[in-house]
Amino acid sequence: MKSFLFEREVVLYKLYEDIFKLYEKETIIAGVIKLLKDIRNTHDVDPKHVEKTLTRILEKTETFNVFLSLFELEKRSEWDEELKKSMNDPSYNAHRTIAINICDMYSSGATSFFGYVDCTFKQFFPSKTSRSFLAKGICALIASTAEVIVTGQVLENYSQKNLTILEERGIHLNDMAELVYRLQKPYNPYLTLEECQEHIVGVLRKQQTYHTIQLSVKIDKGVEQQEFGKQFQAIVANDEGLYGIDETLNMAIAKMYGMIAITNFGHADKEKPGIIGALDSDHEENHCNTFADDTVCAIVAAACARLAHNNKHTNSKPKK
Ligand code: MG
Repeated sequence: MKSFLFEREVVLYKLYEDIFKLYEKETIIAGVIKLLKDIRNTHDVDPKHVEKTLTRILEKTETFNVFLSLFELEKRSEWDEELKKSMNDPSYNAHRTIAINICDMYSSGATSFFGYVDCTFKQFFPSKTSRSFLAKGICALIASTAEVIVTGQVLENYSQKNLTILEERGIHLNDMAELVYRLQKPYNPYLTLEECQEHIVGVLRKQQTYHTIQLSVKIDKGVEQQEFGKQFQAIVANDEGLYGIDETLNMAIAKMYGMIAITNFGHADKEKPGIIGALDSDHEENHCNTFADDTVCAIVAAACARLAHNNKHTNSKPKK
């Protein structure tokens, strides 16, 4: 089975056309402008800039998948009485869980914007109900578009900066590219190591990736130099299995690339192939790599997803 990238472009605009019949594009753009005015006190947002940003988000495979699912579930919720009953429960969250996947790609800033739009939905769309699958998708769309506008175009390319920090910790581009190759080759018989390197560098370009790598290295190094309080020092130095903040922090890199990245992160974290295992077992001379192994897991997982989403030769199932 081939990746659905082959047909995606054909069905993508049809789906959005159907959605815009329910939520006019202009009202979504107005929603982004209202959100930025309410929260950021920004009054001069150009609707054309909003539309361009919105289009970029809608063109992402992950956004399409979320909306395709929300749209189908929306239709189902109109006749499925059991589902309708659950959705009337104030604690119902499944629609949010699916929709918020779009925000995850644009950092926690988008998620907090989501909360605002979700809680004040009636102010944005007075004639619509917020208790619907599609409504949560629209909240995610408005929140993510606003976040991208707030963050602005990051003109700096962080790849070299990131590679330098990683190399200082003994992590090299090739170590990571080899892992991407190993994980993705079963899905893509034409894959080359150079392509894997390209996608690693692509992940490293991002400012968000830089902030995560920078903080991870600061923590590992700080623990080596005993700069933290006793309790924190002991937990991180011993790489306590129940700690989990090393994974939480680095997941931010994987989350930007959707579910393929998240599942690959879990797989790499469990299996610890190559450099990941080497970092995990390196405790010589008080070395601390508690955060570093998860940084590598996240970069590799993100590069796997970036590759899968951009390569039409990728198969949906691995070749045995
Ligand atoms: Mg760790």
